[in-house]
Amino acid sequence: MLVAEWIEQVRAWRGHVTGSVGFVPTMGYLHAGHLELVRRARHENDAEAVSIFVNPLQFGPGEDFARYPRDLECDLRLLQDERVDLVFAPEVVEIYPPGFSTVVDVGSIGQRLEGASRPGHFRGVATVVTKLFMVVQPHRAYFGWKDAQQVAVIRKLVADLAIPVEIVAVPTVREEDGLAYSSRNIYLSPEERRAAPALYAALTHARVLWQEGERDAERLRQAVYARLAEEPLIRVDYVSVADAGTMEELAVADRPAVLSLAAWLGTTRLIDAVLLGAE
Ligand code: AMP
Repeated sequence: MLVAEWIEQVRAWRGHVTGSVGFVPTMGYLHAGHLELVRRARHENDAEAVSIFVNPLQFGPGEDFARYPRDLECDLRLLQDERVDLVFAPEVVEIYPPGFSTVVDVGSIGQRLEGASRPGHFRGVATVVTKLFMVVQPHRAYFGWKDAQQVAVIRKLVADLAIPVEIVAVPTVREEDGLAYSSRNIYLSPEERRAAPALYAALTHARVLWQEGERDAERLRQAVYARLAEEPLIRVDYVSVADAGTMEELAVADRPAVLSLAAWLGTTRLIDAVLLGAE
């Protein structure tokens, strides 16, 4: 496994590999969800690259960039066990050298939901993913459905800019009690961790209503709010039923949709999502 810190090293590696290249961009502190993406990429490609980069551009002022969990040594061990070919783990200055000023903005799809709560977040995501795609030049790139709006944003990005990368979305990997694996789960106090499975329980509750025929998006949203209201440690940021392609809020869930939420447990902000007929 080659561990590259510099763009030039990745380019040299890319010049030598033959066959298809699968790519998994991550911010590290790897868990079972990341490893599922890594395995999918391994299975579907001849060579595999993973990036580990906590991207400052996608964090707002006052967000958790500085305290975001990092453990490169442990991540490299896990990726070695997965037989990854290349890990790109650059410093911030390699991606954003002095004078860097170009940004990629996907427009309104990135301004709703996560984009409304975290202004500039998706500009940061789209910019770094574009740069990573230019460096790694993968055939396929793997993203998790947990970050459903991110999937929609990346798909829009590659379509609009004709970037020749196939975007593969992978189902969310969950702990036994339903909580989606997330690097941020480490922030949760024991009490918050006990309350956290309510997020997925609320989503699945509403999804059952949808499966039983409920198509009124507001009733689905209210069902999620009602379930979360039972959990005093959870403070809801938003609950959304949105078109899976455009992330526009729906009145009637009569097409492939994403039911998603963001919520605070203490100082930790978690997101989760399920698909309504989109898989
Ligand atoms: P992150 O390191 O949080 O930026 O995540 C890197 C990639 O892993 C993103 O495409 C995420 O959507 C994906 N991911 C994060 N958590 C999970 C999970 N529990 N199951 C599947 N994919 C995930």
